[in-house]
Amino acid sequence: MSHYEQYRTQILASCQDLTRKGYLIGTGGNISVRIEGEDALAITPSSMDYLALNLDDICIYSFDKEAIEGKHIPSVEMGMHIAVYQNRADVNAVIHTHQPYASTYALINEPIPALFDEQVANLGNCVDIVPYGMSGTVTLLENITAHLDNSCNAYILQNHGILCLGTTLDKAALNILLLEKCARVYYYALTTGRDISRLNPESERTIFSLLQSEQRKEIRRKKRLARQRR
Ligand code: 13P
Ligand code: ZN
Repeated sequence: MSHYEQYRTQILASCQDLTRKGYLIGTGGNISVRIEGEDALAITPSSMDYLALNLDDICIYSFDKEAIEGKHIPSVEMGMHIAVYQNRADVNAVIHTHQPYASTYALINEPIPALFDEQVANLGNCVDIVPYGMSGTVTLLENITAHLDNSCNAYILQNHGILCLGTTLDKAALNILLLEKCARVYYYALTTGRDISRLNPESERTIFSLLQSEQRKEIRRKKRLARQRR
């Protein structure tokens, strides 16, 4: 058993759980985790039924897109996942879905503002719209890269779907659920036509700074580990 087995196990459990819960629909969406201490990731294969996957179907690739282990073609969005790991040292897991409520905002081009404290604590102070780029293209990953420095953990991809990040795969998966809840409640609120109460700016700032300090802590942990390996 290779040392990649633990990453494969995590991805398999998460993609099957998110499929059963209705967040991954058909073969839409993909999941990856960063391999600790290596410029590499474990990622779901392209266009395969998540409920029929086995551990050895999960692909292990380098950030140079060289196959390390695995027998399938990796997700077409592997470049987007790699771009996230290369631009956000705090992130260790990336999930892309086509989940319905959050995808609604991908069609009306409406970002989700800070509405709830649990939202800001986990997703950040906004859910931005990333301009359209076709699946698997350099345009898509460039558009995403341009947004990553906002320290948020959730993005809406115009006319496409969702991207959620986390320091762990469990956190990224929780962010997917939390985003859908926020998107759904915001949608209900918008349909009333009434004024929408946003989180007050002071709470927004305080809560967001806690998330950012957690991200800095993860970056420090990685730097410490890298020093110890030298
Ligand atoms: P893959 O099956 O190649 O991961 O593609 C699914 C998808 O959501 C493309 O954006
Ligand atoms: Zn997609």
